[in-house]
Amino acid sequence: MDHSSATVETMADCQHLISNLPAGVLLHRDGVILYANQEMNYLFGMESSASLQQQPLLNFFHPEAWKRVEQSVEAMDPQQGGGIPADLTVARVDGKESILESTTTQVLWQGAQVFCTVAKDISQRRKNEEHIRHQANHDNLTGLPNRTLFMDRLRQEVTRARRQSHRVALMFIDLDRFKWVNDTLGHGAGDDLLREVSARLQRCLRKSDTVARMGGDEFTAILPDMARGPFAERVAAEVLAQLVSPFMLCGQEVMISGSIGIAIFPDDAATLEDLLRNADIAMYRAKSAGRNGYRFFTQDMHAEVQERMELESDLHTVLERQELVIHYQPIVNLTSRRVVGAEGLLRWVHPKRGSISPAVFIPIAEELGLISKITEWTIRTACAQAQQWRQQNADFFISINLSCTRCRDLSTGESMQAILQETGLPPTALVLEITENILSGDASQAMAMLNHLVQMGVNLWLDDFGTGHSSLSVLKRLPVNGIKIDRSFVPGTLSDPETVVLVEAILSLAKSLNRKVIGEGIESEAQAEFLRERNCLMGQGYLFLKPEPAELFTAIVCKVFA
Ligand code: C2E
Ligand code: MG
Ligand code: MG
Repeated sequence: MDHSSATVETMADCQHLISNLPAGVLLHRDGVILYANQEMNYLFGMESSASLQQQPLLNFFHPEAWKRVEQSVEAMDPQQGGGIPADLTVARVDGKESILESTTTQVLWQGAQVFCTVAKDISQRRKNEEHIRHQANHDNLTGLPNRTLFMDRLRQEVTRARRQSHRVALMFIDLDRFKWVNDTLGHGAGDDLLREVSARLQRCLRKSDTVARMGGDEFTAILPDMARGPFAERVAAEVLAQLVSPFMLCGQEVMISGSIGIAIFPDDAATLEDLLRNADIAMYRAKSAGRNGYRFFTQDMHAEVQERMELESDLHTVLERQELVIHYQPIVNLTSRRVVGAEGLLRWVHPKRGSISPAVFIPIAEELGLISKITEWTIRTACAQAQQWRQQNADFFISINLSCTRCRDLSTGESMQAILQETGLPPTALVLEITENILSGDASQAMAMLNHLVQMGVNLWLDDFGTGHSSLSVLKRLPVNGIKIDRSFVPGTLSDPETVVLVEAILSLAKSLNRKVIGEGIESEAQAEFLRERNCLMGQGYLFLKPEPAELFTAIVCKVFA
């Protein structure tokens, strides 16, 4: 075989191969293109027949970027092989831009050292990556930065503020009534609302501020460079104004509002974590102050939260440490003035704080899921105590408050049965006081539970009657045989004509529905007399006795029994 013709053939094959390679190949020297294969032409946006030859390289690449590549290639050790990788933006002849992933090295070409750049287009890959990054950092529904990006930005702003002695304001914005929209108008409307809220929030803020959605109906805003004092106030007021103007959802006008908490770095917190926590605390404070408002964080809020956290943690061991006691308040027959029963009222005797009101700790116990254990202890203790008193007064009954969440818990029926058996108290000597809140939530489950208790022979009274929204209809539905007029009405029975009308209406309604009425919070003879004259059967209040511990109750009241 002729050796030289084989070489020529091989050369021709190589040229053909390079020309058709599915990667761009570019040879150049002194900034001038010497050769470009078809793919390179295509990557530069040229017709494949057109030629890049003799064109200046800098028509396509940024001079700085290219200079860096060239210098690196020249500094390379020729023995080492390989090349210099670089992602280069190319300005194509059709005016578009694309990104090339390239490797450049030096080769010998037609007897001279030239640069050889091999490249492929990674614009699409970059776009995909960018898209994925955006998805990971933004909320799908509103397009706002999500929690991850928000945390990044906050970290950056706090670092910058530290360095430049600036202040940063952090706002927690929570919508009031969002749950109502979701529950009554559906999730589609809820989504529309969140999108519209996000658009309105963005309108209130500067470009340099960050608005983010943390999830649910919680939004945050970072306001960096807070040089001017009242700036955060102005933004908060503007946000609230935006939120109270009506939203069109499902063809109807819907009104919502927002609650805003604001904490300032570094005034209110030295660390990122504290800043977040304090803005959150301020937001809760704004909510509990009646919504549609904003609050700046103050240190006393922190003390309050600290206290609440300590209470929560102490409440877990309240039974083990025997810190609960029951005080008993006599229930008196208003005509005979005989003590007929007692209401058991819980007290938490805290080792550091002294006596804590049930109005404070019962809601916390409900929230923490501790109410079942506490209720069981209360009923057991009070039933045992009442059974002792019944030895002197056979008709004596005990009345105990049942928390709403506990009522819905079906196991109450069984534990109640066990307690009655254990203590020997007849079910008819037990009254459970419930409130109409029991019907919020799963009403059918609550009704089943109450009916079960009634079947057992236990009495049910409706407590705090008159304070709810739907008392009259509730009274017809609930299987209660007594109602307690809320103690807030009793003082008005002597002075306020409207209260007189209301209390008289309650009493006549109770009579027609065949329910007993118990007056609460009676502090004077005149109040007791007013109620007795209108057929109120029983009463309790400071006039007769304050709630007292069992021993004192025994000493005072049992004398009356004897
Ligand atoms: P409640 O069941 O309406 O209890 C009556 C409240 O009125 C008691 O407050 C009692 O001390 C107070 N009181 C009695 N007589 C008078 C009076 O003449 N004037 C005034 N101004 N007040 C009077 P207390 O003991 O602070 O209890 C507050 C609430 O805590 C109770 O309201 C009840 O809802 C709840 N509670 C108490 N013990 C328990 C319990 O064991 N379990 C549950 N779930 N709740 C309880
Ligand atoms: Mg009560
Ligand atoms: Mg009451």
